[in-house]
Amino acid sequence: MNRRTLVLAGAFAAGLLASTSAFAQAKPPVIGVSWSNFQEERWKTDEAAIKAAIEKAGGTYLSADAQSSPAKQLTDIESLISRGAKALIVLAQDAAAVRPAVEKAINEGVAVVGYDRLIEIPQAFYLTFDNIEVGRMMAREVLKAKPEGNYVFIKGSGADPNANFLFQGSMEVLKPHIDSGKIKNVGEAFTDGWLPANAQRNMEQFLTRNNNKVDAVVAANDGTAGGVVAALTAQGMAGSVPVSGQDADRAALNRVALGQQTVTIWKDARELGRNAAEIAIQLAGGKKLNEVSGAMQWNQGPNKVTMNAIFLKPVPVTRENLAVVIDAGWAPKAAICQGVPAGRAPACN
Ligand code: BGC
Repeated sequence: MNRRTLVLAGAFAAGLLASTSAFAQAKPPVIGVSWSNFQEERWKTDEAAIKAAIEKAGGTYLSADAQSSPAKQLTDIESLISRGAKALIVLAQDAAAVRPAVEKAINEGVAVVGYDRLIEIPQAFYLTFDNIEVGRMMAREVLKAKPEGNYVFIKGSGADPNANFLFQGSMEVLKPHIDSGKIKNVGEAFTDGWLPANAQRNMEQFLTRNNNKVDAVVAANDGTAGGVVAALTAQGMAGSVPVSGQDADRAALNRVALGQQTVTIWKDARELGRNAAEIAIQLAGGKKLNEVSGAMQWNQGPNKVTMNAIFLKPVPVTRENLAVVIDAGWAPKAAICQGVPAGRAPACN
């Protein structure tokens, strides 16, 4: 081999190396998930679905739990990146506080999927259920059960944009009835940290302030509904005051079967999780946000920023159609129907 051939062979080998490393980059990547906490039952289901879908694609699942601390979530995101995450799925504890970490990730070329809760940065993807529709569904069912009277609104965490989307949807349905005077808003409060204990305390105060003259409660999720039902139980009012919720938690499905909660909105977290993993993998592989399959443009956030987004469809579950969650393998009949007297809910007969 003369010198020239040697140089050529060297260049060829280098090219080969470069193309193998390009190939290596196309391998299913490392995906980091930053959780706000695991306070509600659903998040473990979301997690199992995300992990399974990443591993099915040959990728690696990394995770961190901020344990409800917005400050910890910032360092969690940094450490997921330093551990090698090429795309992040972020369930924000506080939509405003998380921004610097998300912006930094994006600047470093790490793709971000805002998971379930809006992070209103146009370079982040937004994957969620249609939260405004969840709010409408809650209000529709409560309205059916109580077309007039004093309504209380136990909203979600003020740091979570979903709280306002839900309230917006509920108000869309109820506004004509409030305007006509049939329904009166006699109390409305955010629930710090989505904590059931805070929801219970707020509900107790609204009951006291209104001399127990509360006819219906729009509660933002099943955890807060649990707090509301506890407050109603203490006054002997559980079961006679319609209450909404969402998540299809087992305890809430049981309350629905018992008649203590009017509706829960089922959002199949298994689907949301699988979608998030698939989107994160596409983005880590170099796809642009608007090339993600199924992505649409949406700008209904508080700052009207245009986001690439996907919305999954929620399903209302009342005493009449509890079978949908049993048939879908979401929750076992034994848990839903525990202690339910015969004839109370068709799915339990
Ligand atoms: C989610 C709900 C959940 C709540 C508390 C919301 O952002 O959409 O499903 O119950 O957070 O975790």
